[in-house]
Amino acid sequence: MSKVKYYYDPDTLSYRKIEPKKSKKYRNIFLFVLGSALFGFLGLVILLNTKWVNTPKELSLEREVRNYELQFEILNKKMEQMEQVLANIEDRDNNIYRLYFEANPIPEEQRKAGFGGVNRYKSLDGFNNSDIIINATKRLDIIQKQMVIQSKSLDEIAKLAEEKEKLLASIPAIQPVSNEDLTRMASGYGWRSDPFTKARKMHWGMDFTAPRGSPIYATGDGKVTRADNQSSGYGKHIRIDHGYGYISLYGHLSKYNVTVGQKVRRGDLIGFVGNTGRSEAPHLHYEVFKDGERINPINFYYGSLTAEEFENMLKYANQENQSLD
Ligand SMILES: [Zn+2]
Repeated sequence: MSKVKYYYDPDTLSYRKIEPKKSKKYRNIFLFVLGSALFGFLGLVILLNTKWVNTPKELSLEREVRNYELQFEILNKKMEQMEQVLANIEDRDNNIYRLYFEANPIPEEQRKAGFGGVNRYKSLDGFNNSDIIINATKRLDIIQKQMVIQSKSLDEIAKLAEEKEKLLASIPAIQPVSNEDLTRMASGYGWRSDPFTKARKMHWGMDFTAPRGSPIYATGDGKVTRADNQSSGYGKHIRIDHGYGYISLYGHLSKYNVTVGQKVRRGDLIGFVGNTGRSEAPHLHYEVFKDGERINPINFYYGSLTAEEFENMLKYANQENQSLD
């Protein structure tokens, strides 16, 4: 029940009841309803924003986000393992393969360089979990780049290995006649007395004594460029071009076993010892050219001889005897 209010009326000299205006009454009711609605709405907003009241949908979303975070953690662990394996491969690449084939190591900064310039990850920015996603993406980008660089490096090494194998097979690196006990060495490279004039003369190759008809072997892979007796003094002779600037020459043969243009491998039988040309007795005169210069063939036998054998051969070769020419 609302209070009844009175006022004093001086005209009638009595107290009279105040009649409330109808419009005011309705306004009060309206304000009351509005106030309650506002209050209720505010309360609801506050409730919904607190942790302990979640809708089922929110709960499910939250679980999903936690699952994503867990998956990212697992992915990061896997990436870490990949990084370790890659680092191991890179280490071997720089310190074994590239070193062996005399290629420069690829610097760490180059292998692991990130991507500069514009922010590549802008589209991933602006979310609660942006950090996790951006970091994982960055990490993967770097791994991807490392793999490309590593793959290129291995391609380069495969090429170098092929070349090196070819080069090693091509260099004239064995003795041209069977010379197991090294007794066939007659005269080495250097100043020797000429067997015909007895004057001191440069001897540009090595002489191996051997009976007429003894087999002569190609000392490296290559192609026969000459097999004739048109070169002064050498008699019947063979020249093999090994590539990389190397040519080997075999003189005073009795017979050829190859023809011009033929490809030969190291150790192939190419001809037979003889006494043709300017020769005093059956022997093989052997020369090695590098870039057009005649060099001492003895420096190439190291691979097929023990240190002791090589020492003995050096002694033989350095004796200042008479060459067989
Ligand atoms: Zn000679």
